[in-house]
Amino acid sequence: MSIIIAIDGYSSTGKSTTAKAVAQALGYVYIDTGAMYRAVTYLALEKGFASTSGIEVKALMKVLRKTDIKFVYNATLGFSEIYLDGKNIENEIRGIEIANWVSEVAKQPEVRTYLVNLQRKMGEQKGIVMDGRDIGTTVFPNAELKIFMTASEQVRAERRYKELKAKGDNASFEEVLANIQHRDHIDTTRKESPLRKADDAVVIDNTHLTIEEQVQKILSLMEKYQ
Ligand code: C5P
Repeated sequence: MSIIIAIDGYSSTGKSTTAKAVAQALGYVYIDTGAMYRAVTYLALEKGFASTSGIEVKALMKVLRKTDIKFVYNATLGFSEIYLDGKNIENEIRGIEIANWVSEVAKQPEVRTYLVNLQRKMGEQKGIVMDGRDIGTTVFPNAELKIFMTASEQVRAERRYKELKAKGDNASFEEVLANIQHRDHIDTTRKESPLRKADDAVVIDNTHLTIEEQVQKILSLMEKYQ
């Protein structure tokens, strides 16, 4: 039986690394919804629709409706990468600039409605692992298995800082920590589907867990569906 696995949680809790590994182990499709919000943010910045005075939502939605957002499987990497109108923008969306804007874009109800619809279509066939902030609460409230991931702020910032540094991004540790705190705040307090644990989600605090340990934990929760 193929099911939907919804993984939600705070920024930089290792959701995507875990979700990718779980999907690979099960032969499921992995869908990174954060990449979709990041792609829309990339579009907003590229078109000049995001500034300190706010997001020009109407103009952004007009362009977004005409823009093709899709995931293309990369067999070498073993997971999918995001494309905007045929262009692979994986690298572009992972930097600190997009991270600084993404929660502003993601709190816009019009943007959420649009992306949630796309996400539901992607999950129609089941056999997916989808990660984000509102998957178990809004996108797939009937998902068979829901995980809510958390970890201490300090540990999350350290992991993210190392990741950015390895990619050559020279954001400081303080900047990375401030970004995580800022995103957590906007994500948990926004009106439209804020980040919260679904009542039936299993909490995994990975402050002291390795990736392998948390993957095993999720795979053991999967056993009853196999
Ligand atoms: O998962 P990731 O950190 O890449 O997500 C980037 C941002 O996109 C989050 O901080 C959040 O503001 C937004 N997001 C969201 N809902 C989702 C996934 C991501 O609001 N389902």
